Amino acid sequence: MCGIIGIENTKNAAVLAAAGLVTLQHRGEESAGITISGIDKMRTVRSMGLVSKIFNEETLKTMRGCAAIGHVRYTTSAKSTLVNAQPFQISCMHGRISVAHNGNITNFPQIKKMLSKRGAIFSHTSDTEILLHLLAMAKGDIAKITADSIRQLDGAFSLAVLRDKTLIGARDKDGFRPLGLGKIGNSYIIASESAAIEVIGGEYIRDIEPGEIIEIENGKIKKSFFYAKKQKQNTCIFEQVYFSRPDSLAFGKTVKEARTKMGEFLAHQMKDIIKKADIVMPVPDSGFYAAQGFSRTSGIIFEMGFMRNHYVGRSFIKPSQSLRELTAKLKLFPIKEVVRGKEIVLIDDSIVRGTTSKRIIGYLRKAGAKKIHFALSCPSIIAPCYYGIDTPMRDNLIAAQKSIEEMRKYLGVESLTFLSLKNLITACSINNCGKNTFCTACFTGKYPTKISKESFKKKIKEKNYSV
Ligand code: SF4
Repeated sequence: MCGIIGIENTKNAAVLAAAGLVTLQHRGEESAGITISGIDKMRTVRSMGLVSKIFNEETLKTMRGCAAIGHVRYTTSAKSTLVNAQPFQISCMHGRISVAHNGNITNFPQIKKMLSKRGAIFSHTSDTEILLHLLAMAKGDIAKITADSIRQLDGAFSLAVLRDKTLIGARDKDGFRPLGLGKIGNSYIIASESAAIEVIGGEYIRDIEPGEIIEIENGKIKKSFFYAKKQKQNTCIFEQVYFSRPDSLAFGKTVKEARTKMGEFLAHQMKDIIKKADIVMPVPDSGFYAAQGFSRTSGIIFEMGFMRNHYVGRSFIKPSQSLRELTAKLKLFPIKEVVRGKEIVLIDDSIVRGTTSKRIIGYLRKAGAKKIHFALSCPSIIAPCYYGIDTPMRDNLIAAQKSIEEMRKYLGVESLTFLSLKNLITACSINNCGKNTFCTACFTGKYPTKISKESFKKKIKEKNYSV
């Protein structure tokens, strides 16, 4: 996962981009970067670590410009090193161009091979680099070269592209990753989540649509067109389950609202097994709103039974297994007085490998919990993601290897319930009409785009160094 932002027509471009990136920090904690242009020569500052550490007052003072794009990174493709930190800035026949990308390009291996045969030299290991080559080789204005380049790509990509004072926002034709458009005074903003637009004082206008390219300059939308259009979009449903901020909008309602609904549906699904439960509690933070919805619907008291240490990053978002485990150990502490002797409904967003869930359940047992009913606000994850979420390969997904009863025993709980896919889709859909506009491949194994053998091999290779 990554977060991107772009802003134009403002002297505060670097500061606003940095503030927006802080709002998007949950989408990637490994590296951050900002490209600034429009007054001084285009320049990019990138580094490993958190936005607030990289972009202090001193650094921001030196970044003069009226347009900026920014990126926070979490590795899903290529290594977690400075060389792969974005935005990527190049000089080519079109001048200086910079790109920030969220997603995974699934035909990256084939395009890289094709470009290598033509003599292209690669200095990064990230899939985004192929886009820079395609941009440099295409002919026309910045919007046209963007369209001609991304027409050759498959998979997931939301993009912010900067050339001088011109900002381009683009989204893949399936709309896997989000990208919103907003306005602040006489400036336009694009951002991965609406919260990043609103937090910096802007007004969210709308989503950039799947397949749409928008060209913005001097506070005006110069062009808006579709490089490709599909009848059915495939927005990642996991954005609403886990990744997006609760105050961000998805399909016209807040993610919080969708998560609350997931909890309500879970309570209905579990009405026969939770009759005597004493409390419902979330695994913080991502289980919070589902647990609230569950509590309201079931009438079971909501309690915060875990103390979360906010100075430790999200365990899922760390790149290596050893870091994941260490982070999980540090971040949650059960409150004994809340859980001792209680029959608990514990709500989390999902189970991936199962190791973190098992550890958390162990904490509760040690703290004296009498019975634990474990409920997840999404279906079981049985297939890897090729569109920019770092789920492991099938062999490491617990639900792909064990039945629900086997998982229940492994986790050591009295009952284990997953939200049904139908209920998840209904909770996430506009007006709860249940219309499927989502990618749900990690729950079904049915990918909305073709996954080539090369992409499969590439994912295995990546997992070999990151696990
Ligand atoms: S496979 Fe799962 S995580 Fe990946 S885009 Fe589809 S729904 Fe999202």
